[in-house]
Amino acid sequence: MRLPSSLPPLRWLQRHAAGLLRLLYPPQCLGCGAAVPEVHVPLCASCVRRLERPAPATVLDHIRRLSGGERLASAQALWAFDTGGVVQRVQHSLKYGNRPAQGRTLGRWMRHLFPTAHADGGLVVPIPLHRTRHLERGYNQSALLAEGLADALGTSVRSALHRTRATASQTRLSRKQRQANVADAFAVRVPEALSGATVYLIDDVLTTGATLTAAAAALHEADVAAVHVATLAFARS
Ligand SMILES: [Zn+2]
Repeated sequence: MRLPSSLPPLRWLQRHAAGLLRLLYPPQCLGCGAAVPEVHVPLCASCVRRLERPAPATVLDHIRRLSGGERLASAQALWAFDTGGVVQRVQHSLKYGNRPAQGRTLGRWMRHLFPTAHADGGLVVPIPLHRTRHLERGYNQSALLAEGLADALGTSVRSALHRTRATASQTRLSRKQRQANVADAFAVRVPEALSGATVYLIDDVLTTGATLTAAAAALHEADVAAVHVATLAFARS
């Protein structure tokens, strides 16, 4: 079959729209504004190199001290949260920027948190948004991270958790109030499907760990073998 030598202008535009957009608005690093190779890459290599990765023991100790979480197998974050800094800009863009491809890239980068993990049938489970909030925003940022991580681990995402009720925004609550706010807020959809599974529980930001601990409790009720927590950012509150 011969390709037509010239395309009608509209078809040509449709075919080259992405390339033209890249030419007019070259994708930029959210950290420093330098050019990045693709729109789905949120940060340039030099910004990534400068970001701090919290020690896994520090993250786990923090959750255990503030929220319990004794049964967590591990807890890690890709980067330390930096109020007003690069990580906050990335997190804000992930949450409100509606750039799903960048969310999945960040999730793939979280693969570095599990250097020894293999495609062992582990399941990647995102912290769900409440239905109302999901409808308002149109997507769940933690689910995008989960998709990227699952892809990189060679396993699958399981939206196993749901919120049993809407919870107040955690931002202005005290630690005690946060724990009360999320207690019993999660339930597992099909508990039998999780029995014996290794679960990677994913959220965007870890503050006190109250949300993750409440979600992990619901997973343990479904008899999972282990819960490994991973978030994009760790905010020492
Ligand atoms: Zn940069």
